[in-house]
Amino acid sequence: MSQDSLQHSRLPDLSDVWHETLGWQPDAGHLLEFQTLYDRIVDANTQFNLTRIVEAEEFWEKHLWDSLRGVSCVLRGEVFPEGDAEKYRAIDIGTGAGFPGFPLAIARPDIEVTLLDSTHKKVNFLQQLAEELGMENIKTMTARAEEVGRKNSDRESYDLALARAVGPASVCLEYALPLLKIGGMAILYRGHWTEEETEKLSTTAAQLGGVISTVEAFTTPLTRGVRNCLYLSKIKPTPAQFPRAVGLPKQKPL
Ligand code: SAM
Repeated sequence: MSQDSLQHSRLPDLSDVWHETLGWQPDAGHLLEFQTLYDRIVDANTQFNLTRIVEAEEFWEKHLWDSLRGVSCVLRGEVFPEGDAEKYRAIDIGTGAGFPGFPLAIARPDIEVTLLDSTHKKVNFLQQLAEELGMENIKTMTARAEEVGRKNSDRESYDLALARAVGPASVCLEYALPLLKIGGMAILYRGHWTEEETEKLSTTAAQLGGVISTVEAFTTPLTRGVRNCLYLSKIKPTPAQFPRAVGLPKQKPL
């Protein structure tokens, strides 16, 4: 099927749900950009594998809503408030089809969001889409998180690091914490999560200069899926040996 002949479904209009569950309401401009993000992902998915979630309602819940639920404290301005003199920088590690970073960049155009992935095709797609939407707050990078965390230009230079579905939590932390400034925040998106896991991850976080501040459990609004988001603060510099060489965090998790 050619791209031109694809019929796009409309994303569901669930304005009450946004407000009730996130305490934040997208405006007409946000909704238009969410729809374009959806349309372009559906189109691109016919060329290469970006995501298995392409049905409109499922996309709304599992990609858009889920991405924004994790950063709802940012949307509400409880952290990194709009209008601060500082220009905040976020990085989405292993962004894939752009989640959760792209929706964050749409919702908070004042935050510079770097979308990082090791797959060039995905990053190229996201770069083109950001250009089409005129989103100057999106930067893209094709690289491994382990390499980026060792580069002077990026190490300890971000205020916010996000990781969703990129690997075990300790691996995500080894990618994320080296990239954060002291005082920065990491958000790990998880499914099921237990107190024992929090306890175990606390040791890894301490090793990397971080501390777990909150674990928020919630259910998705349409299908009642279980989710947890882990919020961590960077409290001291990450030791120079982290992140370890490419591949090692996954092969030998801390
Ligand atoms: N975060 C997206 C989401 O939640 O839909 C994509 C998740 S996808 C399952 C994992 C992505 O992480 C893939 O696109 C993969 O290329 C990327 N990835 C895995 N390890 C990585 C690494 N070390 N550095 C950069 N990207 C990585």
